[in-house]
Amino acid sequence: MDAIAMGLDDTFQFHCTQCGKCCIDREDILLTPRDIYKICGYLKIKPLEMFKTYCESYIGDSSRIPVVRLKPQGNAKRCVFLKNRKCEVHAVKPSVCALYPLGRFMQVETEAFNRGELGGATVQYLLQDDVDCGDKSKTHTVREWLLGGFIFRFRGVQVAPKGVHFF
Ligand code: SF4
Repeated sequence: MDAIAMGLDDTFQFHCTQCGKCCIDREDILLTPRDIYKICGYLKIKPLEMFKTYCESYIGDSSRIPVVRLKPQGNAKRCVFLKNRKCEVHAVKPSVCALYPLGRFMQVETEAFNRGELGGATVQYLLQDDVDCGDKSKTHTVREWLLGGFIFRFRGVQVAPKGVHFF
């Protein structure tokens, strides 16, 4: 993962042309508790209703923890929120969608992980290698993408020179 991890000031080219392709053939729109909270508020529904209508869950292969994702629809595996090539929850779309075409992962030393320690773990970013939508007409730094998207657009978070700090 070291070879592909991007620093906050590394650049990438991407421009969303609103083609909707990145919302089709998706089985990986995983939700965080914050995503669920925000989408429920936006749709004015309770989490149980949201879960029954839009989500499904499974136990992660390697993590062995429960994972909640948006239910893929039909053979094309369209996202349940994609309507007429538009995202119905655009204003509060899940973090993985706001981050796209970047992805993020947790980096932890293998020895520490084997000891069950996550104290030194760091969040890293990468450019997904299967991006086949939009175009490359705009250049962004990782930092700009995080600040311009929906990920860190809430009070108490700062993307500082040495990383992302939560207060
Ligand atoms: S939640 Fe919105 S942006 Fe994310 S995959 Fe579904 S339609 Fe696309």
